[in-house]
Amino acid sequence: PERRAALLTFVIIGAGPTGVELAGTITELARDTLPPDFRHIDTHQARVVLIEAGPRVLAGFPDDLSAYAQRSLESLGVEIMLGQPVTECSAEGVVYGGNTLKAKTLIWAAGVHASRAAEWLNAPADHAGRVQVLPDLTIPGRPDIFAIGDTVVIAGPDGKPVPGIAPAAKQQGRYVAEAIRARLRGDAPAPFRYKHSGSLAQIGKRKAVIDFGWIKLRGALAWWIWGIAHIYFLIGLRHRLSVALSWLWIYTRDQRAARLITQGSSKVMG
Ligand SMILES: Cc1cc2nc3c(=O)[nH]c(=O)nc-3n(C[C@H](O)[C@H](O)[C@H](O)COP(=O)(O)OP(=O)(O)OC[C@H]3O[C@@H](n4cnc5c(N)ncnc54)[C@H](O)[C@@H]3O)c2cc1C
Repeated sequence: PERRAALLTFVIIGAGPTGVELAGTITELARDTLPPDFRHIDTHQARVVLIEAGPRVLAGFPDDLSAYAQRSLESLGVEIMLGQPVTECSAEGVVYGGNTLKAKTLIWAAGVHASRAAEWLNAPADHAGRVQVLPDLTIPGRPDIFAIGDTVVIAGPDGKPVPGIAPAAKQQGRYVAEAIRARLRGDAPAPFRYKHSGSLAQIGKRKAVIDFGWIKLRGALAWWIWGIAHIYFLIGLRHRLSVALSWLWIYTRDQRAARLITQGSSKVMG
């Protein structure tokens, strides 16, 4: 039973949008999608534990949306541990805040380390290894080298670091193309200025939170906007249509196509 409990425990480390989305989805898979597929395991017994070092989930969102996300996850059955940094991960589980939790599936959603570009370029870097670029996205002392995307850190208009998200990387790419054209014309490019369009996070299959700055949304309407935004930014009509149809199927039928099929002998555990 102890081994079975560990196998049915899913630990997600980090309660940013990635951790929150994973926690909601895994819980729904265990609760709604998988039960008919297993005869010897009751997938309802799966535990999904979301561990966060900070005091709240979705720290980048306003307090009320964070609280809503936490309530929604808890109502799905996710166990949330706040203010508890994970200090050890092993094949047996995790250690957080002095507690040991046995789990066979650990998912790291607490951030990424940048590529080693700063080291190669001998450029200044922050704690995550991101190159500290100048306002025109060049490396200090090397105006011929631009660096963009997740591998760099630069302050946004609010003084906080520009977030490591796809829209920021795209804006930087566009900026560098323009900067090169400006230089070819003999002009000095204006500094890069990040424009944040909004933050979105999905919570399970029917809820989301959205912070556009000028408006905050939560619940089912936010989920629809989240879905439409993600489909809109896919490349090409074919991908948009296939993802839209697949999501609509999941939404209306409570069924996901994804399954893990393992072959060979299977032993029923006691
Ligand atoms: C789990 C997760 C979920 C995310 N969800 C979202 C989201 O919902 N919305 C959002 O906006 N952003 C999201 N992000 C962030 C987003 O993916 C990044 O901000 C974005 O991809 C950054 O773009 P990039 O071009 O800088 O880097 P990447 O997209 O990582 O591209 C870098 C590329 O360079 C390649 N590469 C690396 N090293 C080398 C090398 N030495 N030689 C050659 N090639 C190399 C890599 O293989 C990769 O293909 C998420 C990130 C993660 C990890």
